Amino acid sequence: MYRTNQVLVQNAVSLLSKKGYDGENTLLATSLCCDELARKLEDDFNGIYGKNFNLGGLAGFPFAGNTGFGAMAAHIPDDGYCLVVYGPHVGIAADGTVGKVERAGIDLIDTCCGSAVAASNYVDSITNGGSSATMQIQTFTDFQQNAVQELILPHGKRLADAKDNRMIELPYALYDSQDMLMDEIVKGGSTGIKRGLALLGGIQINTGPDTPDYFHPLRFDYMNYRGETIDDLLPALLTS
Ligand SMILES: [Zn+2]
Repeated sequence: MYRTNQVLVQNAVSLLSKKGYDGENTLLATSLCCDELARKLEDDFNGIYGKNFNLGGLAGFPFAGNTGFGAMAAHIPDDGYCLVVYGPHVGIAADGTVGKVERAGIDLIDTCCGSAVAASNYVDSITNGGSSATMQIQTFTDFQQNAVQELILPHGKRLADAKDNRMIELPYALYDSQDMLMDEIVKGGSTGIKRGLALLGGIQINTGPDTPDYFHPLRFDYMNYRGETIDDLLPALLTS
């Protein structure tokens, strides 16, 4: 199910070209984490479609929201197409540890996605009852992380049930939250779709500096100008 970025991009671009997408008539939009490791996937698609409109923030949530989507849609070339690539990311260290990754120039093998792991720890402190009640109100200086924590909270039991596989389950739980939000945002902005819009959702897998990154595609829908899904391209993406 996993593909290297290179194979993913090659196959996705080939399927979309059959719909009419090319380097001139297509706007790429992404909702991926702030982490510089998440830029690799953007760079790989940018090689085909040019610079991307960024809808994402911490952990990959589409924080640009309805307004961001509306602005992005207005930038789609006239009579042209849009590809939205979205999802969380997770690191895998060279020794196979999920949720950590080596970074160039840094000795410490640190967490990845840092925002997601911090949110997971927050949720764990609540589901295990160890967290004490506070009067602290949410601060604007960290509102994205506060939102990530609240958005992942409904998945507390699912994460707890995963036990030792919590770091594997975490990106899938994040994906489900992000997919739900993306659905709402696209629905709300569907009148801005020009010729067609493709939604490529999944989990970005970052590995160390000397190994390729991977992507686990979970959704590849093609919508017409009315925002109606008219083609599920995921099976073709997974078999090509
Ligand atoms: Zn991240």
